[in-house]
Order: sequence, then structure tokens, then C-alpha cells
Amino acid sequence: METIPGLIVRCQSGFYTVETGQGSGVRRLVCRLRGRLKLGRPFGDTAALGDRVMVSEQPDGTGMIEEIAPRQRALVRLAPTARGPYQQVLLANPDQGVFIFACAQPDPHLRMLDRFLVIAEKQNLPAVIVANKVDLVGLDGARGIFGHYAPLGYPVIYTSVRQELGLDELRRILAGKLSCFTGPSGVGKSSLLNALQPGLGLAVRDVSEITRKGRHTTNVRQMFRVESPDAGTAEAASGSGYVADTPGIRSLALWDTQPEEIDGYFPELRPLVQHCAFNDCTHRHEPGCAVLRALAEAQIHPERYRSYLRLRYGEAEEREKGTHHRWREAHHGEHGENEP
Ligand code: GDP
Ligand code: ZN
Repeated sequence: METIPGLIVRCQSGFYTVETGQGSGVRRLVCRLRGRLKLGRPFGDTAALGDRVMVSEQPDGTGMIEEIAPRQRALVRLAPTARGPYQQVLLANPDQGVFIFACAQPDPHLRMLDRFLVIAEKQNLPAVIVANKVDLVGLDGARGIFGHYAPLGYPVIYTSVRQELGLDELRRILAGKLSCFTGPSGVGKSSLLNALQPGLGLAVRDVSEITRKGRHTTNVRQMFRVESPDAGTAEAASGSGYVADTPGIRSLALWDTQPEEIDGYFPELRPLVQHCAFNDCTHRHEPGCAVLRALAEAQIHPERYRSYLRLRYGEAEEREKGTHHRWREAHHGEHGENEP
């Protein structure tokens, strides 16, 4: 039987759209999954968005997934079920997390951004920040909000769909990679994708609709192809990028994270903690705390410190609520973007 390599670009209730071929030969094939592939796998999604697969073509014009390549990494959520925890794969083989926030309308939710960054650090996923709607506050204003992230090692791209600003820079960062694209509602994710890749035709909502909760949600997971801005030139070797719309990343649980681990997920705190006088320092009130000293010397951004406290101590309390919290994450995570 002849099989061809491809990439799962869309999943919907047991059907997988697989993209095969390259350049002008790209084709999409709607596939099902060979049942035997589930044998011996953990209880969870056997095939997922981002999986590299081998498919065979069926006489009826559909496809069959015959093989799934081992995942380099995956964004996995554990969903409790009557049969035990189900491993839900939000995205297989992501190369980077791209976190989109608006400079205004809605106000930037930096606490959520910091939470995304911690999740990315925990998953070993490089992170990029997109500050959209720069037109509303000006470039200086935008730098005032997001500028302190760049020295931490997180590239910040300033964009405006309205003014067509920063779009090539964003295309370049996406080229040749599979990016997990996420951010709160209303920040302009659909608008950005439409601007990056004309022809996608994603629905962009009216500002008036944004406050209304619960955008129509389906269980479709999909990714979009974004062409490199250098297509047709030598740099185009890096190829087109794929952007996966992964709202659920917000709910990737931190409940299995030990509070002490959180220090390590803040790049600016990581090198300091070993200099605290007490090795069980909570960085809240201890004498000889290197974190408090750096804060006093303005080496650490106060908002980042506040996010750290929130993630380390605030969520520890939530964690103690145990199963309720897990249940909530599993059931509402996907739609929870409007929650504070
Ligand atoms: P999503 O929920 O993140 O997908 O956001 P949408 O793409 O649906 O956009 C939400 C609203 O923000 C729409 O009214 C867009 O027209 C508007 N919007 C998107 N990008 C920009 C921008 O760069 N500047 C301004 N001023 N508005 C924008
Ligand atoms: Zn300390």
C-alpha cells in the first residue's frame, strides 16, 4: 500500500484534515484514523493537530491515517473522566507560543500574559509576545506597556492591523514554524491572521460583540498556513509557517506545578534565588532576600513580581481545592477567555 507524508491541520470529531505535498502541489485530504493505531497508546488523543502522519488514499477519495510520527513535544491537558484522566492533546509539535495582547481595547491583561509565559517555560516552549492595536496608544505607549519583556528574552512584536504595522516582522517570526497562537478575546487574533494571510476570511467581530461572552465555540481544532514575506527569495527556504488557534492553552494546568518550581519559570528570578539568605525563602518578607533587593533596586518589574506572587501563592490556594479546580479547568478552560 502506498502512503504519503502529511501534517494534521484540522481535527473535528474523528475526522482529520491532512495537508500533503509542497508549494503548488499542496493538497488537503480528509482522513480517518486506522483503529489499530489506538492500541497500546495512553488513554487520550491518538492523533492530534500538529501530528506528522503517513496517509493512504482510499478509493472513495478520502484518506486513512496509517502511521503517526513520535511527537517532539505536545501541549497536553489532563481531562478527568469516569475512566480516569484523559490526555487531551491541544497541539502536537509546537515550535513556539505566540501570545497576543492588545495595547488597549481590551486593556492588556498582563497577569494572563505572565501566566502564559510560565506555562511556556514549564513546557519548554519558546515564547513571543505580540502587542497589537499599537495605533490606539502609539509606539511609545506600547513600549511603556510591553517593553520590559524583551530584556527577559521574550521578543515583543508591535503590530497594528489597522495601520498595517509590524506584519512582516510577525510573518518572519512565524516562517517555517508551528506556532501556538493565543490571547484573550477581542485583541485582534482573527484580524491579524486575516491580515497575515489574505484569503483566510476568518470572522472578525464588532467591538460591540466582544463583551458578549462565549463566542460560538465548536470542538474544531485547526491551524492556518502563513506564507513567508520573503516568498520567492533566497530566505524563503525557511518556508511557510503554521499558526494553530489554541484557545485551550490558558487552561493548561499549573496544578501539577510545585510552588517552589515557579521561581524557575521567571527568567529574572531564576538566577537570584540562590543568593537569598534562606534556601526556603518565600521572597515576601525574609531578610537577605535577593528578590526583594532586586525589586527595591528596580531590577525586577513590580508587575512581574506581583504576577509571581499570584502564581506562586494565589494559585497554591486554588490548588488545595483540588478536584474542583481540575474539574473547572477541564470543563471551562476552552471557553474561559473572558474570565478575569
Ligand atoms: P479576536 O477575538 O482576538 O479574534 O479579535 P478580532 O480579530 O475579532 O478583533 C476584535 C476587534 O478589534 C475588531 O473590531 C477589530 O476590527 C479590532 N482590531 C483588530 N486589530 C486592530 C488594530 O490593530 N487596531 C485597532 N484599533 N483595532 C483592531
Ligand atoms: Zn528570597
